[in-house]
Amino acid sequence: MTIATTTAPATPPSTPAPPCQKFGTEEHVRGAIAVIDPAQLDRHMRALASFGSRDPRHPGHAQAIAYVKEQLAAIPEAVVSEHKTVYQGIPLTNILVTIEPGRHTDVVTHDWVLVAAHYDSIAVRTPGWRPAADPAPGADDNATGTAALLEYARVLASSRACIQGRIILAFFDGEELFFKGSAAYLQSESQEAPPYPFAYVVNIDMVGFNPIADRLDLIWYGPQSDQLRDRVKAVNERYQIGLSLVEVFANDPRRYILDTAPFGTAGIPSVTLTERYGPADATYPGNGFFHTVNDTPDKITNKGLWLKAAKLTLATALELARFE
Ligand SMILES: [Zn+2]
Repeated sequence: MTIATTTAPATPPSTPAPPCQKFGTEEHVRGAIAVIDPAQLDRHMRALASFGSRDPRHPGHAQAIAYVKEQLAAIPEAVVSEHKTVYQGIPLTNILVTIEPGRHTDVVTHDWVLVAAHYDSIAVRTPGWRPAADPAPGADDNATGTAALLEYARVLASSRACIQGRIILAFFDGEELFFKGSAAYLQSESQEAPPYPFAYVVNIDMVGFNPIADRLDLIWYGPQSDQLRDRVKAVNERYQIGLSLVEVFANDPRRYILDTAPFGTAGIPSVTLTERYGPADATYPGNGFFHTVNDTPDKITNKGLWLKAAKLTLATALELARFE
């Protein structure tokens, strides 16, 4: 006699977790940039602009720091440190973030990728503007880039890579005072927030205003940045991000007053994505509101451009930070 055996009507097998993806591979990059959330970008930009001003002489500046730290504190994998400096009596605070387990001591000595955005603001193009009292909402310059960095922290923490790469997110202060925050960080001997041996710097600054085209300047710093420039262009193609990039060569890095300047001057391959240096032309009307009290959230007229800039910056960084 044969007894029929039946397999137990079982609980359906649990879906196995998807295998982790190797950090910085095409598959990983595609997945990571796909989850950059435009609603989060918008929320952060509006919050940052709501503090009135992020000039380091204005009370809103401390609110902006508190906001950035609060958002990062909600991401358990984010390891946050501060680098402080003083410029002409003005305290500046840079906020540096790694995503665990990216901060293993065994990789600290290797090349790191710095992804930077300045969070401070200014409105010196408004006549009679007073730094300590008057608004400098800085929605485009540079709440757009700052929002992207906050979103990167969330995306990196959830990107399920087998091992994290070597990325530092830097929220720089004092860029509007001629990149004093980033320059001091690069020269710092701080133990808490050391300037890692950076192999590449990718900076995102002012990327939400261009009502007529998805065009940004790709500024590269010195001939040592040639290959990095080409990498950014290749990434734009590879992931069909769709930005129209205008190449601008910063032959004297010190003259291009962005947070890439100190790094480019130090010989580190560096690029910035920005509308900042674009002359008004058939593809760019020029943002007449930047550095005025009118750089407000309603001026962020091209959310698509902003999202593309956010994707290109992160995709480039992920590829560069891959362990070979
Ligand atoms: Zn800026």
